[in-house]
Amino acid sequence: QGDLQGKSVVVVGLGASGKAAARLALARGAERVTACDRREDMKPLQDEEHFAGLDLARLQVDLGPHNRATLANADLLIMSPGVNPVQTEIAAALEAGVPAISELAFAAEALPSSMPMAAITGTNGKSTVTTFTGQILREAGKRPFLGGNLGTPLSVAALECLAFPPDDPPYQAAIVEVSSYQLQFPGSLNPKVGVVLNLTPDHLERHGNMEAYGAAKCALFRNMSSSQIAAIPQGDSFLRRLAIESNSDGLRAWLGALPGVQLDSSCRRAIVAVPGGGPEALLDLSVLRCLGAHNAHNAGTAALLALSLGLGLTQDDVQRALPTLQPPPHRMEIVIEDSEGVLWIDDSKATNVEASMVGIRGVQGRKAVVLLGGRAKVDQPGMPFGFDRLKTALAGHRAVIAFGEHGPEIAAELADSGVGLPVHTLPKLKDAVERASLIAQRGDAVLLSPGCASFDEFTDFMHRGRAFSELVRQRH
Ligand code: ADP
Repeated sequence: QGDLQGKSVVVVGLGASGKAAARLALARGAERVTACDRREDMKPLQDEEHFAGLDLARLQVDLGPHNRATLANADLLIMSPGVNPVQTEIAAALEAGVPAISELAFAAEALPSSMPMAAITGTNGKSTVTTFTGQILREAGKRPFLGGNLGTPLSVAALECLAFPPDDPPYQAAIVEVSSYQLQFPGSLNPKVGVVLNLTPDHLERHGNMEAYGAAKCALFRNMSSSQIAAIPQGDSFLRRLAIESNSDGLRAWLGALPGVQLDSSCRRAIVAVPGGGPEALLDLSVLRCLGAHNAHNAGTAALLALSLGLGLTQDDVQRALPTLQPPPHRMEIVIEDSEGVLWIDDSKATNVEASMVGIRGVQGRKAVVLLGGRAKVDQPGMPFGFDRLKTALAGHRAVIAFGEHGPEIAAELADSGVGLPVHTLPKLKDAVERASLIAQRGDAVLLSPGCASFDEFTDFMHRGRAFSELVRQRH
C-alpha cells in the first residue's frame, strides 16, 4: 500500500534527514529504495533501530561514489540538503529528466492535510522565528511539530503522522524552518503560511549569485494560492520581484506593514493583522526578555505566523506567551554578567555580516567590545568581505577584536572604512576573550557576533559558542 507503489526511489545523502526520508519512502510503499552516500564509513542502515519493523528487502544502501545508472534509472530522487546537485552523476540524472524533490518537500507531501504548516525561510532569523512560533503555540496549549532545517527532520514528523488516522494527527500544526538548499527542489510544497524573512548575501558558493539564491528562497511560494499567505519584508523591491516571479497569488502579507505585522519605531508595540479578515492583535512587546530589536521583529513575525494557522489563537494567547520567548542557544545568549558589571553575550550563530550588524544593534544602553572573525564569506571570489558595512552599527562602541583566519583582513576593511574605534587583531578566539576582558570597562558588554563561519577553529557555530562560554566562565 502507499502512494509510491511500483516506484524506484533514490535517496541522495544519508544524514539524519536522508535516513528518515529512506524510511518514509519505504513506509509510502516504494517498490525499491536505494539510499546512497559518497561516504563509505557509515554504519549499515539496516542495523539502525529506526528501521525496525520495515520491509528491508526493498532497501539497498550504496556507499561510495554515486552509481550513474542507479540515479539515471530512478523514478524519483530525494535530495538531502547537504548534497550539492552539481555533482556529475546527479546533474546527469537531472539532465535526463529524472524528477527530484528535497527531503523536506517529500516529507510535506505525506503530512495530513488537516495539519496546517507555517514555513519559515530567509537569510537570518529562521531558527529564532521558528522557535518563537512554536513557543507561542505551546503556551496557548497547542501541540505543534517544530523542525525541518532546525532539529528534527520533517520526514520524522511525516512518519509519526502515518501511524495516526489522517483526521486525527499527533500534531496540530507543523512549524518548519526551510533552508535555501531545501527549496532547490520544492516539489509541491504548499504551506498555509510562508515567510521569507530577509535576503542578504550568504551561501553564494552553492547558489552562484543573489538572483539564484533569492529565487530558491521564493520557491517557497511557488504552489501557493490566494487562500494561503505569503509574507516578505515591505519595501524590499528585489525580494518582491522574485516573489512575484515565483507566484504572486499568495503574496498578501508584509513584515513592516499591514496586513501583516507592523512595529512602532521603539519596537515596543506591534499590530498584527492576518490578511483576508483573519485575527488581529495589538501586542505590548515591552514584556520581551530577549535582547535586540531584531528579536522584537522576530516575535512580531512569529505572532503573525501563529495567528495565521487557523488554530483559533487570540490576542491574549499571544500576549501571554511573549515574556516566555527565548531564542535558541548562541543567538544573543547572555553568558554571564561578571562582577565588573560586564555582560558577556554569545551570538556565535551570527555567521554573516548582516547577522553581526543586528547583533551589534541589539546591544542597547551599553558600549560593546565586539569580537569579529573566523572564516569570512565572500559574495564572489576575490571580492572584499564587506565588514566595512558595520561602520555605522559600531559607532560609539568600545572596540573591535578581529580574530581567526580572516582577522587581519577584517581589521583592514574596518580601518579602511574609517571606523572610529580601536581595532585589535589576535590569532584565536581564546586570545580575543583574554584581550576583551582587559579592554572592557564597568558596565560594558562583550559581544561575540563574529560575522564569519567557524570552521577555521571549530566544528560549527555551536562548538564556537560553547568554547566562548567556557573561556568566559573560566575567567570569572
Ligand atoms: P538562521 O536560522 O536563519 O541562521 P537564527 O535565528 O539562527 O537564524 O539567527 C542567526 C543570527 O542572525 C543571529 O545570531 C542574529 O544575529 C541574526 N538574526 C536573528 N534574527 C534576525 C532577523 N530577523 N534579521 C536579521 N538578523 C537576524
